[in-house]
Amino acid sequence: MKPAPFEYFRPRTVEEALALLAEHAGEAKPLAGGQSLIPAMNFRLATPAVLVDLNGLDDLAYIKDAEGAVRIGGMTRQRAVERSALISRELPLVAETMPFIAHPAIRNRGTVGGSLAHADPAAELPAVMLALDARFELRGSKGARSVSAGDFFTGLFSTAVEPGELLTEVAVPKMPKRTGVAFQEVSRRHGDFALVGVAASITLDESGKCARARIALLSVGDRPLLAEQAARLLAGRTPSAEAMHAAAEAAATTDIDPSSDIHASARYRRQLARVLTRRVLEKAFARAALSR
Ligand SMILES: Cc1cc2nc3c(=O)[nH]c(=O)nc-3n(C[C@H](O)[C@H](O)[C@H](O)COP(=O)(O)OP(=O)(O)OC[C@H]3O[C@@H](n4cnc5c(N)ncnc54)[C@H](O)[C@@H]3O)c2cc1C
Repeated sequence: MKPAPFEYFRPRTVEEALALLAEHAGEAKPLAGGQSLIPAMNFRLATPAVLVDLNGLDDLAYIKDAEGAVRIGGMTRQRAVERSALISRELPLVAETMPFIAHPAIRNRGTVGGSLAHADPAAELPAVMLALDARFELRGSKGARSVSAGDFFTGLFSTAVEPGELLTEVAVPKMPKRTGVAFQEVSRRHGDFALVGVAASITLDESGKCARARIALLSVGDRPLLAEQAARLLAGRTPSAEAMHAAAEAAATTDIDPSSDIHASARYRRQLARVLTRRVLEKAFARAALSR
């Protein structure tokens, strides 16, 4: 099918884009890489009357190190993140995850802001940003605001972005000392959306005990979920197979309530969550012990 008719604008500045979104309030959608929006329009699952194309906003495509965080502009291509030396040095969890997102052709066009604003519960970046406790910078015609990853994802394909606002930047705190991270997922074929995925960031204190654990799961609910009970079981503990096993069990049973669909049963998703959580914890704890 072809999309329903729409008006098309290609602003050159963020201000111009915001003015267009305000002018066409309620009927305009921003277009980023188009890798999710255009298929949805072709199937007429999305029928915006107006498209505000963000691809002329070069100012929103950057990766920089500022004020203790790595800042990624909303229009930064996923491929640019995958290839960035700054990302692989400062945000190894993001670097490790990027190759799992779709295929290179899609990552060449798809943007970081588009993936996060789209908020597919099976997408990798939302869970990774939750594990890393990132902040999301939003701009609208009335001003700017900042939202934590925990408050950003509000439901199935829904976020804190209000109509007329743009996600302009994601600020990801740099890793504290003695931190290890890991990501794993299971999908039927490489590049497919994951049946379940787990991202973890573990920080040890000076005595080698777990000072902080953030474990985020994808494809187990209507949004990326933090495994809070699992993190509580690890807090203050010396890393051991027993502690990781207990945390993985909590992640799979208490922290999530997955449903069955055509891709996997709820029972299978819980089993994947159990196994993947244990594996990422083993990796993240081992890496944390080796890091300074
Ligand atoms: C075959 C295929 C396989 C895929 N597999 C995966 C996968 O395994 N994992 C995965 O994570 N993704 C996957 N994707 C999705 C891909 O990563 C998309 O690039 C991404 O979800 C959307 O990014 P985009 O830049 O293309 O956004 P678009 O499609 O342009 O926009 C998506 C939505 O976000 C809104 N939006 C975009 N940018 C902004 C902004 N800056 N501020 C506010 N709203 C904005 C748009 O209005 C729209 O509603 C796949 C896509 C395809 C086609």
